[in-house]
This record gives sequence, structure tokens and C-alpha cells, in this order.
Amino acid sequence: MRTVDVAVIGGGPAGLAAGYFLRRAGADCVILDGQGDPGGFWNGYWNGYWDSLRLLSSAEHSSLPGWSMPKEPGQDRPSAQHVAGYLAEYERRHDLPVHRPVTVNEVRRADGALEVVGSTGTWRTRHVVSATGTWRRPHTPDHPGRELFEGRQLHTVDYRRPEEFAGQRVVVVGSGNSAAQLLAELSEVADTMWVTRRPPRFMTDDVYGRVLCDTATRRGPAGALDDIVMVPGVRRARDRGVLEARPMFDRLTRTGVAWADGGEWAADAVLWCTGFRPTLGHLDPLEPFDPDGGVPLDGNRCLREPYLHLLGYGDWTGAASDTLLGVGHAAEAAVAPIVEDLKTGQRDAPDARGPGVQVGENAL
Ligand code: FAD
Repeated sequence: MRTVDVAVIGGGPAGLAAGYFLRRAGADCVILDGQGDPGGFWNGYWNGYWDSLRLLSSAEHSSLPGWSMPKEPGQDRPSAQHVAGYLAEYERRHDLPVHRPVTVNEVRRADGALEVVGSTGTWRTRHVVSATGTWRRPHTPDHPGRELFEGRQLHTVDYRRPEEFAGQRVVVVGSGNSAAQLLAELSEVADTMWVTRRPPRFMTDDVYGRVLCDTATRRGPAGALDDIVMVPGVRRARDRGVLEARPMFDRLTRTGVAWADGGEWAADAVLWCTGFRPTLGHLDPLEPFDPDGGVPLDGNRCLREPYLHLLGYGDWTGAASDTLLGVGHAAEAAVAPIVEDLKTGQRDAPDARGPGVQVGENAL
């Protein structure tokens, strides 16, 4: 069994940003990542992503702490492959202690410390930072009639390119950036119907790069990045009159979707751009959850286990912490009490100040 001060679980942007600040403070840490290659979500290992996926913002405004993402030649917004390459180089450049592939199966308490049980061994540690992302748990709401619909149903993680839907009738569900971007490209080749639970909110056309970054990190829990960024494809769709959302349908039928007022729309496919849930099952033995599934936090620190810290799961773990834009600020804040504790060696559990924070939804 190996012993460290801090074990970070997850080697995507959030885990790497935490590792950067821990190393800078001289903490003895390890980063355990379940994938064989660097890049987190961006290397497409778990679920993959669509062909046209690009960052919402420019390279220099999507950088992790300590090294600005180089511009991708000829590209205003970096491709997923460019982001994965940047993350691989970031690890190397900062000599981060990443062990991969190591899947962490569980974290448990043992003799006054924490034990992280991984696929290649166990680490005994004082602190754990869980940064396992959300993109491995796509969320599709259990809507009435889902089992009746005879057309194709898919989540964003299964979508690759619009050509697959040429000439079809496609319902796009969701009010986030993924929904707007996929609606924009699908509407070029198919008949589309956009439905949302709440009216979509659009950022102004000039919110880009630095402004987007400031907006994301300043807005905090008010929902930093679930407002739709007006990237070129989405602007063109707006100019074609495509960005008109209807209220969510009440049920699916054999041949399409229907509303309580009797309206129906025949469809060949339903694309669920309905977000993700945090990957937290490895924390079960610590019982960090509220009865309603929330995780009470004091900043990033778990109130039910003060040596467990959560990062990168959305605004509830730091404004825009589930994005490259915002994870640097959130990682610095998450690491600060760990470094303080390692310096003073105080095992002071944070007091339970105020109500717990609920596990949020991601609707990128
Ligand atoms: P991830 O990148 O998902 O990394 C988590 C890591 O943890 C993975 O490597 C995984 O292998 C590992 N892991 C999980 N469970 C375990 C376990 N039990 N044991 C060991 N390892 C484990 N962000 C932006 O900033 N700009 C954008 O434009 C943008 N667009 C996006 C578009 C889409 C379609 C999606 C899905 C996301 C987008 N994001 C964007 C958000 C994106 O998730 C973040 O950029 C970033 O990847 C989140 O980093 P993370 O480290 O929290 O999670």
C-alpha cells in the first residue's frame, strides 16, 4: 500500500488543475485516472463526441493554470483533438504524478485516514480530491411514452454527424449549448423541432473569449455556462429562424411527440441534449450524500467527510468548474484548505455552516 498526502481521482482538466496547485505547494500527491490516455472527456475514450465539436471559446481563454493553451493553427475555436493534445502536454510540462489507467473502485475510511482502492492497488491518504467529471453519466429523463416511440432516440453522447438524419424529422430536447449547436447543424439537412423545459437564454453575440471566461467565472451559481453562446453556427441558425423553442412535449407517441393541448409532431428521431450526472459511485463507502442525493459542501469540502473534496462537477463545486474556462479558479479554492491543513496538521473538521449544496445538473 502506498501512502500520500493527497490522492486526486480523475486526470481530466479538473484533476490536472488540482494537481498543479498541489504540486506548486509542495504536497505529496498522486493523480489516478481510469483512462489509458490523457485528456479526460476530450480524448473521447468513454463516450466520444460529435465530429464538429469545438470549444465554446478561444484557446487562450480556455487554459488551465500555469500554461496558456496554444492557438490551433487556422482555428478560432480549438477542436476536441487539440484540447486533448494540450492536456497531454500540460501533464508532461508540469510533471504531474498521473497514474493511468487506474480505475478507483472505492474510497473508504481506515484507521484515521482514507484508503483509495484502485484497479492496480491501494493508496493510503490524508485528503482525497474527487474530480471524476460528469460526462460518463449521460442523463435522459424518464418521459411518458419513451418506450412507445418507434423512431430513434439518442443522447448527445451518441450523436456524431447531421448526415445520419438527412431528410428526417428530428426533435431536439434541451436548452443548453449542445442542444443549440446540434439543432443548428441538423436544421441544415432535416426538419427540426426544438423543445425546452424553460425558455432558452442566449448570451449576446459579443460574448466570446475573455468576456465569456469572465462571465462564466463571475456569474457563479446563477448558471454560468448554460446560457447559449452565440458561436457562428448558432448565429446562422438564428438568422434562418431556426432558434424558436417550443415548450417540452407531454409525452411521446408511437410516431412522434404530443402536447396536452392536442398538438402532435411526427418524428423519426428524438435527440436528448439533457445533460449529465456526476460520477460519484466510488465515494459511496464514505456516505457523503444527503437523503435526497445532494452532497453537503463547505466550499469544495464535504461536510460529512472533511478530508474529501469535490471538484469539476458544475457550479456547486465552483463557478463554471465543469469547464476549462472556470476550473482553474475552482481548483485553487479547493486546494487551499488542503494545503493549509497539511501545513498545520490540524484535523479540524469544518463546521456545518448553512444548508448542504445540491448535486447539480449539467446541460452543456
Ligand atoms: P473529465 O474531462 O470528464 O475528466 C474526468 C476524468 O476522470 C476522466 O479522465 C475519467 O477517466 C476519470 N475518471 C472518472 N471516474 C473515475 C474513476 N472511478 N477512477 C479513475 N478515474 C476516473 N468545457 C469548456 O471549457 N469549453 C467547452 O466548449 C466545452 N464544451 C463541451 C462540450 C461537450 C459536448 C461536453 C460533454 C463538455 C464540454 N465542456 C466544455 C466541459 C468539459 O467536460 C470540460 O471541459 C472538462 O472536460 C471537464 O473536466 P473534468 O476533469 O471535470 O472531467
